Amino acid sequence: FNKWLTGLDRTRKVAFGRISAFLGVSEINQNTWDDLEALLVQADLGIETSTDVIRALKQVVVENGLTRSEELSQVLKQELLNRLLPIPEPVLPDQKPLVILMVGVNGSGKTTTAAKLGKQFANQGKKVLLAAADTYRAAAVDQLQVWGERLNLPVVAGQPGGDPGAVAFDAIQSAAARGFDYVIVDTAGRLHTRYNLMEELKKVYRVSGKALSGAPHAVWLVLDATTGQNALQQAKAFKEAVQVTGIILSKLDSSARGGMAFAIQKTLGLPILYAGLGEKPEDLEHFDREAFVNGIFH
Ligand code: GDP
Repeated sequence: FNKWLTGLDRTRKVAFGRISAFLGVSEINQNTWDDLEALLVQADLGIETSTDVIRALKQVVVENGLTRSEELSQVLKQELLNRLLPIPEPVLPDQKPLVILMVGVNGSGKTTTAAKLGKQFANQGKKVLLAAADTYRAAAVDQLQVWGERLNLPVVAGQPGGDPGAVAFDAIQSAAARGFDYVIVDTAGRLHTRYNLMEELKKVYRVSGKALSGAPHAVWLVLDATTGQNALQQAKAFKEAVQVTGIILSKLDSSARGGMAFAIQKTLGLPILYAGLGEKPEDLEHFDREAFVNGIFH
């Protein structure tokens, strides 16, 4: 829990600290609802989710005859918890190799997260192959290779400017031939040419299935927690292009809001599987909703 507590320091002190302070001691009246809703929006829950939370709170207040705002703290915590899925571990088929596509916009933390996941799986005794399919950015390929060296994980990389689908194909086939357990494919995330990006992603997705039937077994979208509601808009575009199966919320430690987590289920209908709580390879945690909610209100 300590990791969560440290990682959520800023969110706890800023956005949710304001909410805790606001719910200090007073009577519940119309101002309570207006102000609380504004604070939830500021915490990055978005309008829709904030309104929804307020509606649920009002109902509990009526049903239980609550009159004091300090009684709302526990109710709010529970309502927020209800908006997160209780999924401790991603569900992956029992297949070898398992192919995971990492998608997301540049800068979201995709490459770092791919490396962190690689390390976690390797720590569980699995053989992990990383594939650098962002062939447009030499820096992205270099970055994954540096991670590979640091973590002692092999990396398959294509030629700069080469075909990203081919990198995925080669990596998956080679992993199958060499008995790897996981292939983690890092993909491109250029947003300024979004149409091409999405077409390219679809191709990487299709080609993965040609390399190995059933692949990719998971498509994990990395969202930067500091970009709040914008990230949710991007997420919709990714969801339209490929079958995203889960969200990884990165940089929660850099965010002072963090409330976007509560909007994800409603907006995207996808589970948050992991949380990025720092830049180091070990700073990736299964998204434990209790730890998250307790961390922001501690
Ligand atoms: P990509 O362009 O999506 O592949 O993003 P990168 O993996 O290169 O990450 C962009 C920056 O975010 C890097 O400086 C990372 O160290 C940083 N980063 C990634 N994940 C986290 C995280 O969970 N917490 C923090 N504080 N920084 C992160």
